[in-house]
Amino acid sequence: MPSLPVLVLNSGSSSIKFSLYQACDSTQTKLFEGAVDGIGTDLGKFWIKDAAGKKLVDQTPALPTRAVAFKLVADALHSGSYPAPAAIGHRMVCGGPTVQKNQLITSELIDEMERYTAFAPLHTPIAVYIMREALRLFPGVPNFVCLDTYFHRTMPEVVTHMPIPEEYSAMGVRRYGYHGISYESIVYQLQPNVPGRLIVAHLGNGASISAIRNGQCLDTSMGLTPTGGIISGTRTGDIDPGVLLFILRKIAQTTESASAAADQLEIVASKKAGLLGVSGRSNDMRELREAIRDGDAKARLAVDKFVWTIAKWIGSFVAELGGLDMLVFTGGIGENDIATRAEICAGLGALGIMLDPERNNTRGKATISADNSPARVRVIPPAEDLIIVNHVVRLLGE
Ligand code: ADP
Repeated sequence: MPSLPVLVLNSGSSSIKFSLYQACDSTQTKLFEGAVDGIGTDLGKFWIKDAAGKKLVDQTPALPTRAVAFKLVADALHSGSYPAPAAIGHRMVCGGPTVQKNQLITSELIDEMERYTAFAPLHTPIAVYIMREALRLFPGVPNFVCLDTYFHRTMPEVVTHMPIPEEYSAMGVRRYGYHGISYESIVYQLQPNVPGRLIVAHLGNGASISAIRNGQCLDTSMGLTPTGGIISGTRTGDIDPGVLLFILRKIAQTTESASAAADQLEIVASKKAGLLGVSGRSNDMRELREAIRDGDAKARLAVDKFVWTIAKWIGSFVAELGGLDMLVFTGGIGENDIATRAEICAGLGALGIMLDPERNNTRGKATISADNSPARVRVIPPAEDLIIVNHVVRLLGE
């Protein structure tokens, strides 16, 4: 296949990131990347930089709606300053039970994925909006969906099935797992020596952890929605269902409809809980570490809970994998927070995880385990756009 410009679109609840690659089967070269951030505010950010990091666009526009935000991106890409994309890859968090494979996007496919908005309510609305707009604004250019759930398709039924009545399972309620493109990118970067028993901890503002056997996902912490699993920036993680019922009943006392009460509960569980909820201060690890240095006991408790939950998941995954060859930290906290990595690993010596404190005293790609550690411990930044480009090139060739 000849080398083609491939555009990657990756939307979050208040941002749209994009990058343009020149790619064929064997090589992928990044040409540009950019983002619009702060959608819904008067002071958004819009920037584009080239592969050397030189800023080509650096603006602070008002971004009242996602329509305004995406138009800025589309106008820039149509300006003639950048190669016109020959294909577009869209990151999609969850396509529901019927859309599990990366594939060509049609309007029918978008409608089908939109039916399952409830499984990723913060991500799906903007992602499907951008897919529709991309089909309209880039006519004739093939668009492909790349799902975060795709990597987790190999999990066995005993892992994916939820202990609920069959009528709800039949509606697609099951464990899907998220951050799949990040996990895929770690396995990709470890090739050709992917360890047989691998655990990857993706610790960002959203956090999850996966057990990977021979390069395939065996288990992951997130469930039906990204709110499940380990505690993260603003999400509860797994929690006694009775807690949610208690909060729901409290909310319902002052709310007019059941659906308004459910919406409020969703905000509590996914935007006000986690590190933010426990610390009462911030969901940002850097701020929490600063507060801990100032003696803030609630910040200490929030980080301790984060560390404790992750260590517990690592322990259960080591049991599931029958041992461990490698633990990888990734995501903003995994790559940068030296103390979090040290605290997680401090109690895991019995599982064969031993850090070298000096090697751990670093940010970015590194091996941080001691020479005599039975399991290697590494830090590897994710390369999600590269994985999306690879899928697009593969699908174009089919
Ligand atoms: P998202 O899930 O939004 O992609 P990121 O992967 O960017 O999140 O991670 C954001 C988290 O990483 C925040 O909690 C932030 O405090 C933390 N982080 C980023 N840089 C550092 C750093 N230098 N030291 C400690 N934590 C950091």
